[in-house]
Amino acid sequence: MKKFLIAGNWKMNKTESEAEEFIAALKAKGLSKPEQVCVCVPFTDLRTVKKALEGTGIGIGAQNCHFEESGAFTGEVSVPMLKEIGIDYCVIGHSERREYFNETDVSVNKKLKALIQAGITPILCVGESLEIREQGTEQTFVAGQVIADFDGIGIADAAKIVIAYEPIWAIGTGKTATPDQAEEMCAFIRGVLSGIYDNETGDAFIIQYGGSMKPGNAKELLEKKDINGGLIGGASLKVDDFAAIAEAAAGIE
Ligand code: PEP
Repeated sequence: MKKFLIAGNWKMNKTESEAEEFIAALKAKGLSKPEQVCVCVPFTDLRTVKKALEGTGIGIGAQNCHFEESGAFTGEVSVPMLKEIGIDYCVIGHSERREYFNETDVSVNKKLKALIQAGITPILCVGESLEIREQGTEQTFVAGQVIADFDGIGIADAAKIVIAYEPIWAIGTGKTATPDQAEEMCAFIRGVLSGIYDNETGDAFIIQYGGSMKPGNAKELLEKKDINGGLIGGASLKVDDFAAIAEAAAGIE
């Protein structure tokens, strides 16, 4: 049976009361496979959302962390802090963090290691810009990100990391990669991981597609062999849309 993870990435949206309202409406939807769904929310919403999701099977994630356990890093949040709240997932290396907050493959790699050690599942984002896609070098670029991000991560831990292939030109633009383009890159990433580790490990990875996924295009993307779910930005802010995407995944064997 194919594995899926449908992850909402709220980005910098929803106050605590808005988050509470959203989760109440999501619960009312009665998702058929809640265990393959999670919401990645702002730090300020984590406690409230965690409590609101109790007993639903839906997972909760953060959108960033620091790799050090504690110390003089004003404004940062550590992995032990997230662990104590009881979060399941943490988005790492989102293109917005790479672009606006100087996230590099070196810091991404350290964060992945800190999360794995704590037993929190990282959702690692990789993907190329429009410029790189137009040059036709997207595979070289994304392979470089994967190799650098997984540096020093052993075979026993590797597939604990969820990967989100997110072409930057498709994020928040309404422009989706075609199912064939998305499948080609997700299959390519699986091949890179099989090369670093082995085929069995490569096959075990959850590889998501992210970039303007919505109810109207989710099914055909999710039906592709190497696409195990989605990282969803804009559409995850609307309960009806997010639930429809979750149900599209739930309907695929
Ligand atoms: C994202 O933020 O990871 C994303 C894919 O956004 P959107 O769905 O809005 O393109």
